[in-house]
Amino acid sequence: MDVTTTQVNAKTGKKTKSNIRSFVTHLEGAIDGAVLEARTLQTTHADRPIWVRYDLDAIRASVQPSDFSSRENSLWRYRELLPVEDPSRIVSLGEGMTPLLHCPSLGSHIGVENLWIKDESQLPTGSFKARGLSMAVTMAAHFDITRIAIPTAGNAGGALAAYAARAGMEAYVFMPSDTPIVNQFEAAQFGARVYLVDGLITDCGAIIRSGTEHTGWFDLSTLKEPYRIEGKKTMGLEIAEQFGWSLPDVIVYPTGGGTGLIGMWKAFKELRELGWLVTDTMPRMVAVQSTGCCPVVRAFDEGERFCSFFDNAETIAKGLRVPAAVGDFMILDAIRESGGTAVAVEESRLLSLMKNTASRTGISTGPETAACTGAIEILRSQSWIQPGERVVLFNCGALQKNVELFERNLPVLDPSKTVDWDAILA
Ligand SMILES: *Cc1c(COP(=O)(O)O)cnc(C)c1O
Repeated sequence: MDVTTTQVNAKTGKKTKSNIRSFVTHLEGAIDGAVLEARTLQTTHADRPIWVRYDLDAIRASVQPSDFSSRENSLWRYRELLPVEDPSRIVSLGEGMTPLLHCPSLGSHIGVENLWIKDESQLPTGSFKARGLSMAVTMAAHFDITRIAIPTAGNAGGALAAYAARAGMEAYVFMPSDTPIVNQFEAAQFGARVYLVDGLITDCGAIIRSGTEHTGWFDLSTLKEPYRIEGKKTMGLEIAEQFGWSLPDVIVYPTGGGTGLIGMWKAFKELRELGWLVTDTMPRMVAVQSTGCCPVVRAFDEGERFCSFFDNAETIAKGLRVPAAVGDFMILDAIRESGGTAVAVEESRLLSLMKNTASRTGISTGPETAACTGAIEILRSQSWIQPGERVVLFNCGALQKNVELFERNLPVLDPSKTVDWDAILA
């Protein structure tokens, strides 16, 4: 991997190759803009998330968009826009640069010809959680952390366990007891200590917080440290590069804790400030949830900046089962700034939408993505999305994670009997 950058000494003009440069200037409290030190370990500020800020002028002077395409095919190609100081300590499983697939069959079925799916199911451990956790574990390693803990609705636990295994860290994963079996299996196989909790992800988070003093572990909860967003940001950088440094009209995103939506919107704003976009259009960001758990939709509709706790959260789309998100205002700000919206799809429709989405695309799509298909139908019927608009739907996790949703109702053949071919073709 090519990891060196050239630094020019301002006094002597002498160029030196360096592999320990990052363009991070400082961190910033998202709730109040407070300036925080970047080179010490930070968690939250005023109990709210923290942004990573960069010297965009220096980045603009040292790299241009066309440089990225010749680099390695992973999210690490965007290293100038990432917080890592010591590239030799990157904890990677080859994550990033997922396919952006045109989906005309599904598109014409739901009235959006120009429909694209960003297929995050092809990432390590089968979900886009790999991006954020690769970054968060890399930065934890940078700060010499050796014991980490995470609450998860499913996929984050598997991804964290994999990256912790890669980094040689001790990982503790807490998940609701009805989390999909594949998530339990993968986290345990990667050597994490996995605990099931009779409750929701918020209860898992509370357990981790109450154990911090005793265990000394570092809490990698969604948005409780600054770097997961930077990993998720690379989804936005990739779409921009894949569309030739222009952006789509609409992004439809299944929203739980919201890191992906928040991270992408940050990426788009950084790209605009860098002057790297060939057109000025910014995408309208759409947060999609299920009627079984839709705190963001409710807050958006009510004009609130913060969400209230969503009681009795239940949905087959486990990635969306987040009744309270610490970055709620960041999600809602991004939606509103972008001229976007928030849509809840009827929970009872998710299974049929899931079959429809997978069978019309060949992409490994689960219930969260199914909700997005339903949301596009709704937004088309309201003419909120125009027919020719370029729409990108995020497939954040693989179908295979959801084996419990399979009804096991396939017809069975008896090999000793003659086959009824008409029945086969029926
Ligand atoms: C985590 C997850 C989501 C929600 O992502 P956020 O960025 O946390 O809102 C959606 N779908 C799947 C499959 C997930 O694993």
